[in-house]
Amino acid sequence: MIIRNVRILICMNTIYYEAHNNLYLNLTNRCSADCIFCIRNFADGVYGYNLRLSKEPSTEEIIEALEGLDLSKYREIVFTGLGEPTLRLDVVLAVTRWLKNQGLRVRLDTNGHAALINPKLDVIAELKKAGLDSVSVSLNAESEEKYNKLCRPVHKNAYRAMLDFVRGAKEAGISTRVTVVKIPEIDVEKCRKVSEELGSDFHIRLLSEAASQEIRE
Ligand code: SF4
Repeated sequence: MIIRNVRILICMNTIYYEAHNNLYLNLTNRCSADCIFCIRNFADGVYGYNLRLSKEPSTEEIIEALEGLDLSKYREIVFTGLGEPTLRLDVVLAVTRWLKNQGLRVRLDTNGHAALINPKLDVIAELKKAGLDSVSVSLNAESEEKYNKLCRPVHKNAYRAMLDFVRGAKEAGISTRVTVVKIPEIDVEKCRKVSEELGSDFHIRLLSEAASQEIRE
């Protein structure tokens, strides 16, 4: 039998992956922004893992996958992935509770739009109640105007919501860090100043080579 023009798509549905002595959880490929430097525009994943999901994993599927692992060897379990985890806040909360019951450290990497995505909830209070230890929030611009240009958020007032998210997390006693991507459009020193005013830690992320080349073209 001859099969012509058949494209076989092999999708791994990677729910978790290891890097930096952490375990990262991949909940969704959707996002409430469309950053010009987003890895989703240039690659299928990071560190050799294909993070494209054909189906978003349920809470039960994530817990079942994690049950087979020695989680104690990781510094942190991090909600991240190729998308915005708080689009699946119910899963973030349930899995955080499960992880905290085992005494593990849990971090959320987020664009900080959670209150706009989940307007009926007090998101910070829910995260705190679930036991979340820390958040890493993409700041990515020193001004709202630049943020809207670079990150192209779906919601209005996303920049202010993101700053409020950082402030709220800090006030709630959740450890906070903001990050920027190192590209010429972003004034890293002004962003550092914003971070200082927020009282959060500051981290500069490097852009992948593929992304650097493409956004320059
Ligand atoms: S917030 Fe993160 S996942 Fe969303 S578009 Fe920007 S870089 Fe991509």
